Amino acid sequence: MGRIIAIANQKGGVGKTTTAVNLAAALAAVPRRVLLVDMDPQGNATMASGVDKREIGRSSCEVLLRECPAEAAIMKSPEGYDLLPANIDLTAAEIRLMDEAGREQRLKEALAPLREHYDYLIVDCPPSLSLLTLNALAAADGVIVPMQCEYFALEGLSALVDTIEALKARLNPALEIEGIVRTMFDVRNNLANAVSGELTRHFGDKVFRSIIPRNVRLAEAPSHGQSILGYDRASRGGIAYLGLAGEIVRREKKKVLEETA
Ligand code: ADP
Ligand code: MG
Repeated sequence: MGRIIAIANQKGGVGKTTTAVNLAAALAAVPRRVLLVDMDPQGNATMASGVDKREIGRSSCEVLLRECPAEAAIMKSPEGYDLLPANIDLTAAEIRLMDEAGREQRLKEALAPLREHYDYLIVDCPPSLSLLTLNALAAADGVIVPMQCEYFALEGLSALVDTIEALKARLNPALEIEGIVRTMFDVRNNLANAVSGELTRHFGDKVFRSIIPRNVRLAEAPSHGQSILGYDRASRGGIAYLGLAGEIVRREKKKVLEETA
């Protein structure tokens, strides 16, 4: 059964989409069977996967509205994983869902029959705790929180962790914080190092050991419709995301061993 991982942080511009896309590509390279689900109406994960958001037929919008099964909207990304794409239509889906019963469980319902076909289902969330993010958190087994080590970042993170804990009881008791990943990290920045130290003191093992450096190749790749592995595999960003994927796979293996021991 595939593991559903939501990439969430209510803040914009922290590296959610970059992490979702490149983690999907890195897990696919390991190789694992991966589905990337775009739940952001901006469609950035879709574009970065080499799929033009203006040209998609069915998307996560139709899926959430139960107009088609997820399987019928899934496309192959040239980056080695499958993609459930999104574009601005998703905003309309969100509005139409507002008055529906069970509106937070639509994604979970849609992904359920797909879990056996994938090892990982990675969900890219929009930068807010909207109904779309709630759908992702209700469906997920784990959340990965990308964060930038800046002033106030820890405060925002604590608020997010509290929110996730509060949502858990109501939406999805099995939800876990899978890990926190430091993004756009600059080792020469003293503040970033200080915040990073605080982060590991507070959250211990929840902080991934892989650190994603600030790397211009990561910022360039989406404009070529490529993941970092397609664009520049040997870049520092490429190596970092492969490291993160390795860490996730090892953690899971360890968990399975512990459960069967
Ligand atoms: P979010 O999805 O949280 O809004 P993005 O992943 O879109 O954030 O990242 C915001 C911007 O920062 C994008 O332009 C992206 O290309 C750039 N970016 C993300 N991660 C890195 C990184 N590690 N190094 C350099 N640029 C990055
Ligand atoms: Mg994004």
